[in-house]
Amino acid sequence: MPETSAIHPSVARFVEASRQGSRYLRELERKLSKPHVVARSERARAVLRVQAIALSAIREFLDSHGFIELLPPILGPVTDPGIRGAGQVVVDYYGWPYRVMSSAILYKQAAASALGRIYFVSPNVRLEPPEAALTGRHLAEFVQVDVEGSGMSYEEVMDLVEGLLKHVVAVVKGEAYRELEILGRDLPDCSDPFPRLTHSRAVSMLRSLGVDADEASEIPWDGEVILSGLFRSPFFITDYPLGSRGFYDREDPERPGVLRDFDLIYPEGFGEAASGAEREYEYERVLARLKASGEDPEEYGWYLGMLADGIKPTAGFGIGVERLTRFLCGLGSVWEARLCPKVPGVYSP
Ligand code: ASP
Ligand code: MG
Repeated sequence: MPETSAIHPSVARFVEASRQGSRYLRELERKLSKPHVVARSERARAVLRVQAIALSAIREFLDSHGFIELLPPILGPVTDPGIRGAGQVVVDYYGWPYRVMSSAILYKQAAASALGRIYFVSPNVRLEPPEAALTGRHLAEFVQVDVEGSGMSYEEVMDLVEGLLKHVVAVVKGEAYRELEILGRDLPDCSDPFPRLTHSRAVSMLRSLGVDADEASEIPWDGEVILSGLFRSPFFITDYPLGSRGFYDREDPERPGVLRDFDLIYPEGFGEAASGAEREYEYERVLARLKASGEDPEEYGWYLGMLADGIKPTAGFGIGVERLTRFLCGLGSVWEARLCPKVPGVYSP
């Protein structure tokens, strides 16, 4: 286990409170039933102001790097299945079953292939299992800034998201110092290069701490918090194993079984910030990956049709806005990072 001093005190307090399980969730439900009361505290107002400043810093950074903001599709016949077992919301769309976007990955590939560098500020819905309510970083409804560029490598995408986060932290430190003071948040220094470790290195680090982790799977949620607590600055985990992520993360042609992808992880126990990758974009390869991940290719008609016509190779990432806000503000749990949060399994307006 890492020294507890490396875990931010509000994360440590949340971990402690969440041990009460359903008692914690009942109290949360009571609190969230009055969103007008929650939102008028000085603390909540500070959080939402930091979030607004961060969002405009994100737009400023991406716009100045040649990305254009597109309006995000919300409904479609299929959506991202690579969401670690969370459920999708299906609605009746004039007799067709349509999904509410769990992520707009398929549309990102279409858009970046056509337009070059694009992003969405994209609302997503994922019916996470109820136990996700106790991780402090899952919401059933959230917003991610979903970025994609054609012809980019995953190394270039990592440089991009690193630059983005550094910019956001600098702007927030400069423009939101009063809010950070109200929140008692002393943001860690993010100016040095972010360390990059491979997934297999991350797994051996966890194992050497006596934490169960598997070479063939994503890092488990609790392992991710422990790793995150070992670092003082954000860091990357790269090169996840084939089968552990969405079908669209590209397998390295030179290293079969290894994906050209990454997660960016916040330090201090805050956990995952962003996921990104180079994409599979060739029809035959995507078809094989879809089948291997248990998806029905029939449902992906428009997408496979697009790949059969041919698209450009693209790469990108998605960064969660509420998790970013949680890190910037030093919040115990992500529900504090939005008005009327939807915490998995918790009834709230
Ligand atoms: N689609 C991914 C997600 O939502 C992000 C990405 O790879 O761009 O986690
Ligand atoms: Mg992810």
